[in-house]
Amino acid sequence: MVTTYISHQDCGLHNMGPEHPESPIRLLAIARQIERSGLNEHLVQMDAVHATPDQIHLAHNPLHPKRLQMRLPEKGVVYTDEDTALCPQSLHAASLAVGGTILATNRVLAGKSDNAFCAVRPPGHHAEHNMAMGFCFYNNVAIGALHALAQPGIERVAVLDFDVHHGNGTVDIFKDRPEVLVCSTFQHPFYPERYSTLERPNIVNCPLPANSDGTAFRHAVESRWLPALQAHKPDMIFISAGFDAHWEDPMADLKLNEEDYRWVTQLILDTARIYSGNRVVSVLEGGYNPSSLAYSAQAHLEALLGY
Ligand SMILES: [Zn+2]
Repeated sequence: MVTTYISHQDCGLHNMGPEHPESPIRLLAIARQIERSGLNEHLVQMDAVHATPDQIHLAHNPLHPKRLQMRLPEKGVVYTDEDTALCPQSLHAASLAVGGTILATNRVLAGKSDNAFCAVRPPGHHAEHNMAMGFCFYNNVAIGALHALAQPGIERVAVLDFDVHHGNGTVDIFKDRPEVLVCSTFQHPFYPERYSTLERPNIVNCPLPANSDGTAFRHAVESRWLPALQAHKPDMIFISAGFDAHWEDPMADLKLNEEDYRWVTQLILDTARIYSGNRVVSVLEGGYNPSSLAYSAQAHLEALLGY
């Protein structure tokens, strides 16, 4: 497998303050781990590029980035909700997170890479059509999926989300788009409680109670995601790769480990081999313990490489 690893050091310029868990340390921890493990020698590494306004508008009301731009501070931080803050460089980083996802999508669609992982931030899956939320400004994975759907030969896609939080933004953007299947596992009841009980043929919500472990997670994926994927036959698969369901993560109370992330990644690749010409783009979402985030991302990348 050829796996492209896309990141950018300027994603670290988005800084919501020393106490904020969605911190620049997260990407440094992943980068350090892929070097330490020697994985970097097997990955095609590329810098993210900026998104164009039209690309951001694929998933968002054009007023949304304008409103964020108007609130951008010249120094310090400005909160857009109780958890989410803009600093002077936040939209620069957010544009790279979107642009990196588009670059990954283009590389996979052009056959230059079988799959790709975007180690970018800010994350995206809570960002709705019209609203920033939960550390997210632009919905990176949704924009990547909509960009793919605009290319010839891509008629159906799937977004698979194993972040511990429900990807309300992705559901908001795709709830009336039957060509996009959205499958997610998430702790419930838990943040953000917006679309977690929505039932649609293309929305497969798999709530897991606090303290659920890998067995419960794997059962949900096999019994709910797999049949939906087999029916949908996506031409391309996107992953909202949040690693905050790890047992060591301070943010939530699920009990996954690195091997669960390796398992689900392998299962997604098996599905992509059958239906999607191997085309998989994975985009980082959560993961707030730098150590478990780094080891989980390593397992995810090893699986993407076919190890
Ligand atoms: Zn999360």
